Amino acid sequence: QAWTARILTLFPEMFPGPLGQSLAGKALEKGIWRLETMQIRDFATDKHRTVDDTPFGGGAGMVMRPDVVDAALAAATGDGLGTKGNGPAIYLTPRGRLLKQDLVQELAAGPGVVLLCGRYEGLDERVIEARGLLEVSLGDFVLSGGEPAALALIDACVRLLPGVMGAEATLDEESFDAGLLEYPHYTRPAEWKDKKVPEVLISGHHEKIQSWRQAQSEETTKLRRPDLWDAYLKRGAAGDR
Ligand code: SAM
Repeated sequence: QAWTARILTLFPEMFPGPLGQSLAGKALEKGIWRLETMQIRDFATDKHRTVDDTPFGGGAGMVMRPDVVDAALAAATGDGLGTKGNGPAIYLTPRGRLLKQDLVQELAAGPGVVLLCGRYEGLDERVIEARGLLEVSLGDFVLSGGEPAALALIDACVRLLPGVMGAEATLDEESFDAGLLEYPHYTRPAEWKDKKVPEVLISGHHEKIQSWRQAQSEETTKLRRPDLWDAYLKRGAAGDR
């Protein structure tokens, strides 16, 4: 069974979108992964197919009804609670756990994901609790809907699936693998706009290149992401590096 992304959305036509192109698109065609969309509106029960209502307690905006979303989730996961062979059921929300590469790796290693894309002000809290949804955020900003977050999460997972990347080796040295940001890259021409490629990279000296890259990674991380740098040092001190 191929890795499967099952998406619950009010805008199924947004998929596969960019995931139909390039590496992810080719892998989709080859059947390395599968994409299924479900229209949440199909689970509304009134004749207007209503999925949202005004918030109790007042305030602006609308809230997605728990009964409608629950029925959609039940259909997507094929059982009551949990998700059996589908991987976790995730609600994309700015309140969630920040999406990081470790979670991406975990999800890519499993059978797939069920992704619930919110709209309006989001979901009624009770359906999040009742379904034990894993809440995941793309970052500290507010999107108008969960769909772009779902596209990003799937893209990050799919490129880790076996057979998706042409050169598997390129996965080995990426940002975050060692807990550091990546070193800078250069290609031809060797001199461009009076800027030369660092000497060491054309030296052909493999070990020197490696240590230059390591030093660059450390420097960039220290400067740009003191949070990652601290975690890196702590891990080193704990001896698990
Ligand atoms: N009222 C919500 C708040 O202040 O947190 C924002 C709702 S937003 C306009 C509508 C939907 O977009 C959310 O239900 C969620 O599914 C999605 N969304 C917005 N920002 C997101 C983010 N940073 N990560 C993941 N999903 C996000």
